Amino acid sequence: MSLDAVHHVTAITGDARGNVDFYARVLGLRLVKKTVNHDAPEMYHLYYGDETGSPGSILTFFAIPGARPGRPGAGMVHRVGLGVSGPRAVDFWAERLVREGVDVAGDDTRIEFADPEGMGLAVSVEPRVTGLPAARAPDVPPAYALRGVVDLRAFARAPDRSSSVMSRLGFQPDPDRAGTLVRNGPVRSARWTWDPPPAERGAGSAGTVHHVAWSAPDEDHAAWAGRMREVGARPTGVIDRTYFRSIYFREPNGVLFEIATRGPGFAVDEDAARLGGSLALPAHLEPVRAALEEVLVPVGNPRDAGVAR
Ligand code: ZN
Repeated sequence: MSLDAVHHVTAITGDARGNVDFYARVLGLRLVKKTVNHDAPEMYHLYYGDETGSPGSILTFFAIPGARPGRPGAGMVHRVGLGVSGPRAVDFWAERLVREGVDVAGDDTRIEFADPEGMGLAVSVEPRVTGLPAARAPDVPPAYALRGVVDLRAFARAPDRSSSVMSRLGFQPDPDRAGTLVRNGPVRSARWTWDPPPAERGAGSAGTVHHVAWSAPDEDHAAWAGRMREVGARPTGVIDRTYFRSIYFREPNGVLFEIATRGPGFAVDEDAARLGGSLALPAHLEPVRAALEEVLVPVGNPRDAGVAR
């Protein structure tokens, strides 16, 4: 029974339109699904990824209109790193982000920057992503495209308390870097680094990560609840999220983890060529579609315009 690596990372935005502009236009990801938070349907849930939204390529955002900027503290992820295949790709992103007015720090193996709401991001060389699918943005050369989440950094007061959970998820200490754990799955890899927390308390709001999902083969998925109970976690039951099934639990330092199935994927309720083209709703919310469309700020998919803008 083996996980791959990251399935998706979910964060919070207070500005759905600005979020689509940054992730779909500037970062060149595909908006693969525009739906609502199933538990709070008056807010969008936006999904970005490669052309089909394959597990590992996905970033998602709950769009809480007008949410104030949050800040990461103990028990929260503070940086999400996306993989590219080589240094020339890192240079491409550094130049493109600077042209967009984004502050960029780093070198030709890794750059760090933030999204418009302050969420910490990074682009780094991860040779294992070479050949993995990517989004096809009209102005991003395919060789330079972002190829999924490869690297996460979180704040923890007592990283050792999370060891049994992380090792059950298949992470092993990186012999070259204290505090960093590595998971090499069959397809993807993930690095996880615990950093000492800032003095200030964290506040989960715009520009902060809500949870991290790990990718499990569909056939093993339900058994993960039992495996996590064995290391003292208190997992939820299996929840149907339409595009995948999910089990959630909080790891000992407080980060919310999810184990998600690979399938059925984003073409389950839209044509694969038109992903993200319209507001997708689960069956139980179809009767209130008109009311939801009334309160949700209209958000276009840059793909529909033919060019990303
Ligand atoms: Zn999730």
